[in-house]
Amino acid sequence: MKSLLQLLIGICLLHYVLSCPDPDFDYSSIQQNDGSVQKRGYTLKDRSWNVWPDAKIIYCFDPTDGGLAKRYLKPLIPKAWDLWKAAGLNKQFKMEQGTDDYCTDANRGSYLLVKYNSEGELVTTPGYSASMSTTILDPSDAIGSGSGVANIAHELGHAWGLLHEHQRVGLWTKDYGGTGATNMFTFTCENMADYEKIEAQRLAKGKDMNLPCHYEAVAKTARFIAYNLLPDQDGLDRGPAGEVDWDSIMIYGSTAGSKTVNGQRLNTLVKASDGSTFGYNQVPSEGDIQTLNWFYTNELGDASKNVPVPFWKTGSKFRGIFNRKNQNNNCL
Ligand SMILES: [Zn+2]
Repeated sequence: MKSLLQLLIGICLLHYVLSCPDPDFDYSSIQQNDGSVQKRGYTLKDRSWNVWPDAKIIYCFDPTDGGLAKRYLKPLIPKAWDLWKAAGLNKQFKMEQGTDDYCTDANRGSYLLVKYNSEGELVTTPGYSASMSTTILDPSDAIGSGSGVANIAHELGHAWGLLHEHQRVGLWTKDYGGTGATNMFTFTCENMADYEKIEAQRLAKGKDMNLPCHYEAVAKTARFIAYNLLPDQDGLDRGPAGEVDWDSIMIYGSTAGSKTVNGQRLNTLVKASDGSTFGYNQVPSEGDIQTLNWFYTNELGDASKNVPVPFWKTGSKFRGIFNRKNQNNNCL
């Protein structure tokens, strides 16, 4: 299990289920730059429900692990966060460690819980969740991008609300559940490390691998790791459909999730244009930065002066009601 988990970074297993639409808020009133770079990146769909209030994450270390999370991760999270700031993220974004008084069950709905492991797991709740925002981190340099700090920076991208660049629906055709005119990637499903295991499970039920090799939801149900590579239906793809941000820290490399044959890692994803490979990135790209800046438009000071503040935001007496609604997964 360890070897398989080590093949991937940023497995979004902690998917929450909040996607209530926001029909009343007029997004068109927000000034934004619609250049192609700014439109890149892949966020959760709803930037009213899924953002951290006031663009601020308070994080707390797991209090139940004998101090391991605090010991191993406390020095690294500021370094990972520095990568985002150095890449140009709006200075109003804040990440702060919570005080011991704050990091209690009573405040669990308002902080990011940081958990440690040494089993190769890198798993993060995407965006803000009123009940369970959590990031599970292995700081090893031997997994994912090859840099523990960069891997944590990738996970922080998830925590803020970014999904994987390679899972944008606009980069895949409907054959994979996407919306694009062409596939920007060639996916070799048989090269997934867990292909044979999942295939055996499927065959025992009289099913083949066609659907889990094409559709994220089927792969996820089958617990096939390919669900982290195929188009993610939870995202908001603002385009452009035919352009991949190959520099994004939120993109996997070509060997993601692959098996090793004769000492050689196989490729699962290559560029459809010429079959060439691509690697993981260790710093956020301009597209990553612009996408987060856009996603948090309502939370950042300058923009909030120009738009009405939704009544579920911080400072509203109704926010608590909305958070409780979130926890119950109810839409009004
Ligand atoms: Zn990830």
